[in-house]
Amino acid sequence: MPVSDFEMINAWEQVLKLSKLEPGQSVTILTSSATHPQTLSSALIATQSMGAIVNRLDLPPVNAEKALSRDSLAWLGTTPLTGNNAAIAALKESDLVLDLMTLLFSPEQHDILRSGTKILLAVEPPEVLVRMIPNEADRKRVLAACELIKGAKEMRAVSDAGTDIRFELGDFPAIGEYGYVDEPGRWDHWPSGFALTWPNERSANGHLVIDRGDILLPQKRYAVEPVHITIENGYATSIEGGLDADLLREYMATFNDPEAYAFSHIGWGLQPRANWTTLGLYDREATIGMDARAFEGNFLFSFGPNNEAGGDRTTTCHIDIPLRNCTVLLDDTEVVRKGKVLDGK
Ligand code: FE
Repeated sequence: MPVSDFEMINAWEQVLKLSKLEPGQSVTILTSSATHPQTLSSALIATQSMGAIVNRLDLPPVNAEKALSRDSLAWLGTTPLTGNNAAIAALKESDLVLDLMTLLFSPEQHDILRSGTKILLAVEPPEVLVRMIPNEADRKRVLAACELIKGAKEMRAVSDAGTDIRFELGDFPAIGEYGYVDEPGRWDHWPSGFALTWPNERSANGHLVIDRGDILLPQKRYAVEPVHITIENGYATSIEGGLDADLLREYMATFNDPEAYAFSHIGWGLQPRANWTTLGLYDREATIGMDARAFEGNFLFSFGPNNEAGGDRTTTCHIDIPLRNCTVLLDDTEVVRKGKVLDGK
């Protein structure tokens, strides 16, 4: 259903309060050609009504000649901020950046965060934002899952469909995304609700099965038949199956980069207001698929860079794949059993 301006302004005010926005603080709203007009107009009103000093910085899009789709995660590494020192300076001088453009996976984002600026990404359509307004319970749940990851040396995922894979942990931090930025230098994404980390380099080994109904991103497609992926020493070494396997393998091959096949983040979904079914209800260009990444009890794995976590691998390809019905174990203790999170929530 469409969202009223009143509801969107209200939603922003809730998120900004959780993000501890104070009167007199400086907020820069970062926009580009795909920014949703209602998200922008309501953010402008909410920030001003809370007494912030509000700027808008609009930057032209980049990478159209390289990316195969309009999805903002379809080509990583360079952003409209690359080499743009004037824009970077403005963002560093801001207390809070509302990223309605998508800076994710860029060295410039790290640079800005190190200055203490908070960054909140919000690029899903208004109805998705309003359905998944974050709250304190989301934060507590996600941070509890992060504590479990921090204490573990191994993550394993298994499923009746045939997934059985192990990852060594410990070299990279546990990261929780709960949808707001309540500390200086924090980055988050509204909407979200999941805990993740990155496996130690070259430690992933096993077999992954993307089963019928699991989701491929940025393809934004439900798999219609199983895809079998062999993982050896941190890299996917074969992708076999029917049409879905062909599409995934050929898409990844277009990047012509061996690092595209390396493991990126791994974790599980914790957001009860995210829904596995919504991907089929939206136009592909209307969403980046946060419902799919965050729905409760998924096992979310990915291929691509680990520089977000402090690693040194950069690659322009990034694939996120949430699997249903998996059991996720940390050091042989189940945290998700057949798609159900075992935290009593
Ligand atoms: Fe990802």
